[in-house]
Amino acid sequence: MTITRYLHTFLDIFYPRYCVHCKCSLNNSCEMYICEDCKKKISYIIDTHCSRCGTILGPYTIKNKETGCLVCKSKHFYFDKVTCITHYDGVVKTLIYKFKYAGQKFLFNALYDIINTQNKFNGLVSDIDIIVPVPLHWMKELRRGFNQSEILSYGIQKHFLKPVIKNNLRRIRNTKAQTLLTKGQRKINIKNAFSVKSPELFKGKNVLLVDDVLTTGMTASECSRKLKESGAKFIHLFVIATAEYNHDLNFLDG
Ligand SMILES: [Zn+2]
Ligand SMILES: [Zn+2]
Repeated sequence: MTITRYLHTFLDIFYPRYCVHCKCSLNNSCEMYICEDCKKKISYIIDTHCSRCGTILGPYTIKNKETGCLVCKSKHFYFDKVTCITHYDGVVKTLIYKFKYAGQKFLFNALYDIINTQNKFNGLVSDIDIIVPVPLHWMKELRRGFNQSEILSYGIQKHFLKPVIKNNLRRIRNTKAQTLLTKGQRKINIKNAFSVKSPELFKGKNVLLVDDVLTTGMTASECSRKLKESGAKFIHLFVIATAEYNHDLNFLDG
């Protein structure tokens, strides 16, 4: 038994740890925030989403690598490609909720472990020149104390060794939560919510745009529109989870 394990055992006596999702007690020193049972239930997305727009596809859906699926043929998204790791449900939903809204910033480590297990970075490296987090409005960031997409960007930067460009794409309007609005209102709500300070930093670049959850796709698309107006060549959207079929989205706010 290593010293760390002794220390964990010792600390567990005085400060028992519980799984953030099912609340069972964590006795195994390898389990930091979630239990093995919850870990096993994570629904990873394994090649069942459209790589063009992130839509979850059935086994018989027709898709094409360049033109995408029926969804991205009917909607126009300004990003070119999407990589998502899991569905937005179960333990992943709990982790993201507590990470963002309950001030439990340390839970990023658990989310990062989940991302890492899928090893999706290798295929992306050649696509990327810079990493850009989806920005929060400064008032929201001040209230929360951090921007979750920025923390995520710095986490995945280790795999890309490419610069994170923050505060150049900025959110200039403190918009309402997209999920509280109708389809038509969402478009108006998010339109021109972003601006770019120095377009030359994005010119000719292949961008990895990073966000935590993909819901309607409109926020990421509007960010991508601004990046492309600034001359960005290719936008690859990277998200932890897709909430496409999860209707309990009312709290998802930036
Ligand atoms: Zn659990
Ligand atoms: Zn698609």
